[in-house]
Amino acid sequence: MKIKVADIPEEESLTLQESLRPEPLRLETPVWKFSGPLELTASFQRTDDVVLVAVELSGPTQRVCARCLEPYSADYSGRFHLDYQLNPSMTLDITEDVRQEILLSYPVRPLCRDDCRGLCPQCGANLNERSCSHASS
Ligand SMILES: [Zn+2]
Ligand SMILES: [Zn+2]
Repeated sequence: MKIKVADIPEEESLTLQESLRPEPLRLETPVWKFSGPLELTASFQRTDDVVLVAVELSGPTQRVCARCLEPYSADYSGRFHLDYQLNPSMTLDITEDVRQEILLSYPVRPLCRDDCRGLCPQCGANLNERSCSHASS
């Protein structure tokens, strides 16, 4: 998403919306990918020396559970702020910074559900689906 700083009014914020295709953003990891477009809403506001950007994002994802290793779907949503040195003649492109924020917000261990029981360490059974004879206490 790009914006000419000169287009941001001095007294009020300017809100832009855009659908981003996930592929060019290279957001895919072995356990996470966006399965549809990301809806990006950004509100730009200028002060005397900075441009403040409030960003909201949402989009559907496919993830792999860190405990049971099953794929599952979940909606991503994120909210963060960016700021830039004000340069009235500049065109601001926030795409790369948005991409970095998304990558930083990924959970280290995505879980299909909070109480996912995972796999039996001995026989590999998915304990969400069945129990096995190795059930521990
Ligand atoms: Zn799981
Ligand atoms: Zn087992």
